[in-house]
Amino acid sequence: MDTQRNPKRPRVDEENSSRDPAFYFDDGNIVLSAKDADECIVYFRVHRSILTKHSPVFKDMFTMPLPQDEDQYDGAPLVEMAGDSADALRSLVALLYDPECIPEILKSADFAARMYNPVVLAKKYQIDWIPKMAATQLRELWPQSLTGWDRIADMERYDAFTFAYCPETWDGDENCIRQLGEPVTAIRLARECNALGILPVAFLHLLRLPYKDSDDGDDARVTWVAPERKLLSTEDLVRLALARERMGKWFSSSSRRDPPWDSSRCKSQNPTECHLTIVRAWLEIAADFARDGNLLAAPRRIPGNDICFTCSSILKQEMQDQRQKFFDELPTFFQL
Ligand SMILES: [Zn+2]
Repeated sequence: MDTQRNPKRPRVDEENSSRDPAFYFDDGNIVLSAKDADECIVYFRVHRSILTKHSPVFKDMFTMPLPQDEDQYDGAPLVEMAGDSADALRSLVALLYDPECIPEILKSADFAARMYNPVVLAKKYQIDWIPKMAATQLRELWPQSLTGWDRIADMERYDAFTFAYCPETWDGDENCIRQLGEPVTAIRLARECNALGILPVAFLHLLRLPYKDSDDGDDARVTWVAPERKLLSTEDLVRLALARERMGKWFSSSSRRDPPWDSSRCKSQNPTECHLTIVRAWLEIAADFARDGNLLAAPRRIPGNDICFTCSSILKQEMQDQRQKFFDELPTFFQL
């Protein structure tokens, strides 16, 4: 008779299931279920009011009349979150229930990796503030102008200078180009949350990082050792290879090939010294470019003392113009 009066089907606990330790509230009035990586079902007992406050999708879901034979778990209506992983759901629910964890996530070095799943789910359930927050943080962290890039480069130079005097920690240049975050997770997140403006610089950063595995890092300064290249699509791997080729072609055809030497403007008693310094600086740029293909890395060096003020100014301006052109071409190099 009981089942006649109450046609709702109580859900019997299955062996391969568990209640989420953090988000199973006794007074929750809705249970969400999702499978973890081991295909084990995880139950989250949460509150409709919290879900509907953030998500119009949940709001619509809960305003529809529940079917008479709705699934139940532990006395509450059960919604199976088909297609969502338990880990992703947990990370989303954590943002809704524990907003105080947000500053810590935003500051963490693996912010882009940690925000990916919640952003994907937030988009699915139209919780707009989560992708917006991720996009704002990406734009904050990744420079989108040459000035912004140079500010990062200055910090990297400072690191290089500092570590160069600690022979036991010195490990070549690569540890000193980590002011920017891990680029592959940033690229993935940027695409999800529509922060596409950071892509050219993120791809350039990826291109200049050495190709190596991520298992040999015990340096506390470095929170990630190698880019997460395994997350790159084939299309992006091709994009990287072709970008290197386009950069080379651009450098040999579009950039200024003759050193910016103008004998009529030189103020030196010994113009030959100025001329030689300029030629040397220009050759050095070409050599640096040939080595790592990144014109932004090379041409801010002070060319030395054997040059008059006018020639030095012309050289610096010309270098800056070339760097700006290179920077402006990044979207073309990477076909973005
Ligand atoms: Zn001069």
